[in-house]
Amino acid sequence: MCVLGIETSCDETGVAVYDTRRGLLAHALHSQVALHAEYGGVVPELASRDHVRRVLPLVRQVMGEAGVSGDDLDGVAFTAGPGLLGALLVGASVARSMAWGWGVPAVAVHHMEGHLLAPLLEEPAPAFPFVALLVSGGHTMLVDVRGLGRYRILGESLDDAAGEAFDKTAKLLGLGYPGGPALARLAEQGDPGRFRFPRPMTDRPGLAFSFSGLKTRALTTLRDGSRDARLDADVARAFEDAVVDTLVIKCRRAMQAVGARRLVVAGGVGANRRLRAALAAMAAEEGGQVFYPRIEFCTDNGAMIALAGALRLAAGAQCGLEIPARARWSIDELAPV
Ligand code: ATP
Ligand code: MG
Ligand code: FE
Repeated sequence: MCVLGIETSCDETGVAVYDTRRGLLAHALHSQVALHAEYGGVVPELASRDHVRRVLPLVRQVMGEAGVSGDDLDGVAFTAGPGLLGALLVGASVARSMAWGWGVPAVAVHHMEGHLLAPLLEEPAPAFPFVALLVSGGHTMLVDVRGLGRYRILGESLDDAAGEAFDKTAKLLGLGYPGGPALARLAEQGDPGRFRFPRPMTDRPGLAFSFSGLKTRALTTLRDGSRDARLDADVARAFEDAVVDTLVIKCRRAMQAVGARRLVVAGGVGANRRLRAALAAMAAEEGGQVFYPRIEFCTDNGAMIALAGALRLAAGAQCGLEIPARARWSIDELAPV
């Protein structure tokens, strides 16, 4: 199965070609970060317009690099949700139309399923079943993954997603948008012993998360201290340590609850180095193993959509002539193909 994948759910246009026999043949990404930076967040209409500009040139580039033409493709996969509706519609219409033109099936992919399957692009790939920690800009959840389309949410954030909390706290620190990576860099210089922020919702059973209080805690700590580079770095460190610790505690609980030995971590916050080190240590203690996508596939990309589309197509999934796009769509609504 050779599949072209298109991702346009938010502020990156991602395109890739994945072949179930030969692996990932080519991929490219255009990030709109610079476009939205001056607004401090993603402006939906600007995002849609930029996807319109970028998607076809990227498709040409990636198909050229992969050395495939429309005749070589078995299908075209696209992100159908969740995400910004206008942005989703760009990728969905382009993908659906090209599939029609080439006479191959179109395959709708759930964006979070894409993130969750991204570690399957790597060697060694995790086998089913596993527990997945999805930590991105819009989601924080633990999922019991039994197979393709067999997902049960074990717990999720009641308020801010982990990435969102990173971005909002980074904004308080004047680090720009999206500030997660910059906050992590600042935390490197922080003193881990100066402040201790709470580990939200770890004092009771359950697998739900709540990160909005940490951002408030960062705000009050910054207000109470005399603001200098040292204070900023120490707050960044206290914040990062609290998020990382909380995620590790809940991952351990989730693995114990379902008896899983394999943990898959995906989504942008999965690029965080301290989180990776802490999860590796926890998994070693539990006799388990952690799997990640390569750093560039932690955040949004076309490769994960091409892969998920190829697996779905191989299992028999395809959509009709409609152009499906859903802003809100929970991953546990998916069914086995
Ligand atoms: P969703 O997938 O939920 O729709 P999204 O696609 O916007 O959201 P991703 O692209 O997967 O999310 O990830 C982006 C998020 O990851 C941002 O919030 C960003 O700050 C965060 N992030 C990226 N790198 C790091 C890092 N090293 N440490 C912490 N956070 C990071
Ligand atoms: Mg993004
Ligand atoms: Fe994403």
